[in-house]
Amino acid sequence: MILEGSCHCQKVKFRLESSHPYPFNLCYCEVCRKTAGGGGYVINLGGHADSMTCDGRAYVNTYRAELIDKTGNMKKSTAERNFCKNCGSALWLWDPTWPELIHPFASAIDTELPNAPEKTHLMVAFKASWVQCVVRQEDKSYEYYPEESIEDWHKRLKLEC
Ligand SMILES: [Zn+2]
Ligand SMILES: [Zn+2]
Repeated sequence: MILEGSCHCQKVKFRLESSHPYPFNLCYCEVCRKTAGGGGYVINLGGHADSMTCDGRAYVNTYRAELIDKTGNMKKSTAERNFCKNCGSALWLWDPTWPELIHPFASAIDTELPNAPEKTHLMVAFKASWVQCVVRQEDKSYEYYPEESIEDWHKRLKLEC
């Protein structure tokens, strides 16, 4: 399906094709929470990078988080979080490790999204103490990253679009 998205001030508008548009993947990591997760988490969707078009590119800025690994070394995340530099809206994430993919934030999408029959809660080890994960019986919850990718989840549930 085609996903159309925009930032709040409407300087940036984008559209891309997505075979994996179900908003099921709730990330509670600190970077997501601080940059875009007012409720404690963000949701990224899966899209095809080569189909991406964007108006207002001049307003798009990227942020690469600095992460501290187990040995205390600083490491820059390869993931580029794209946001509107006028209004601050989180737009999409792109990582050169998987250049063919773009992960728009569900919060930036204006197209009506399908409802996810089950949800994945990930990076729960990093959630803030005030955040209560609402994990229903059908949901899955992981301390860190799950093995299952956004694509795999759609395949397992036969929901590829
Ligand atoms: Zn904006
Ligand atoms: Zn995260």
